[in-house]
Amino acid sequence: MLVLAIGALLVFWAVILLAFARPLRARWREPVLRHPVLAIESDDWGAGPLGQADALRRLAALLRRVQDRSGRPAVMTLGVILEVPDGPRIAAGDCRAYHALPLSDSRFDAVRSAMLDGVGAGVFAAQLHGQCHYWPAAVLAAAQAEPGVRAWLTAPAPAATEGLPSPLQSRWVDASGLPARALADADIRQAIEAEIATWQTIFGSVPRVAVATTFVWNDAVEAAWANAGIDTVISPGHRATCRTATGEPGCVDRTILAGERSLSGQTYLVRDVYFEPDLGHGPQRLVDGLLARTRQGRACLVETHRVNFLKSGEASLAALEAALSGALAACPDLRFGSPLELADAIRARDPAWIETRLRPRLAAWHARLDEIPRFRRVARLAGLAWPLALLGRQP
Ligand SMILES: [Zn+2]
Repeated sequence: MLVLAIGALLVFWAVILLAFARPLRARWREPVLRHPVLAIESDDWGAGPLGQADALRRLAALLRRVQDRSGRPAVMTLGVILEVPDGPRIAAGDCRAYHALPLSDSRFDAVRSAMLDGVGAGVFAAQLHGQCHYWPAAVLAAAQAEPGVRAWLTAPAPAATEGLPSPLQSRWVDASGLPARALADADIRQAIEAEIATWQTIFGSVPRVAVATTFVWNDAVEAAWANAGIDTVISPGHRATCRTATGEPGCVDRTILAGERSLSGQTYLVRDVYFEPDLGHGPQRLVDGLLARTRQGRACLVETHRVNFLKSGEASLAALEAALSGALAACPDLRFGSPLELADAIRARDPAWIETRLRPRLAAWHARLDEIPRFRRVARLAGLAWPLALLGRQP
């Protein structure tokens, strides 16, 4: 009788595991890191307000001061924007045509050199965010109907794209009306070829990492990126491909785990810890994010934006420094590194980064199960949580 009961229970558990086989297997296949890894991911730098030069220099100095056990300074990625509107020229043409003010313009000399110096010092890693933080034709069309957009587009000083309505900040859709319309694949391809060429004139090499503005992109964008040499794509853990009727990013067509590949063969990474001091996020938020990702055997990619360091510079810098120090105190074996190094290590299955031992892999897998919708509850009700916990004990 007992044997029968145990047999029935095992069959019951097997059915549950089979029902969740896909997400369970995906989390088993996802690489497990041997050490805590932290990178700050900061978007929107480049063409834009001139105050960025000072903010970048102060950030570089801060990052140099904070070093991991190996003496490696903290790394911040710069999601770079290569142009803003040339307001006076657009105004002179009565908003009938778009004109760009490129990052190569002499007005941005100090911003460019601050970025390049930081890259040279190993504290900044440049990533492609886009030629511009919008689709020019969409902003131009919106400006005909919306005085606020028109004022933004024709302002004399280099524009801050944070001031645009959110849907228009998506580069890879036409959000001049909602729901946004898809762009033609050929237009996307042409735009990406042009932005890669611009990038090369500034950075002297081709970018390998891209992060779509507002995290809205699609297969056509990835194909054009791949064609241009981009082999790593930063995601928030899923891919939104449109802006909905209410303007939200939507049409999510896939969920993403680190190390998964795009249709075009790129390696995806996941950036899902948010640290925006300007929104009131304290240092502990970053430390907690790092501890949770470390238990899961994952890197902690922290999203932040330049606006924190332009608007409330002093306070944000202090919060970032406290967070980085707190991270080192919480995880003494923490490694600072760039997302590109991480992606390269995943691709090469580099044993210096990637765990191969069974016990730590099981522990990381177990720590990842909570995020599978409904699984934890079902496992608990079925008595399956206990054997899983036993399997996933921290070694
Ligand atoms: Zn952005």
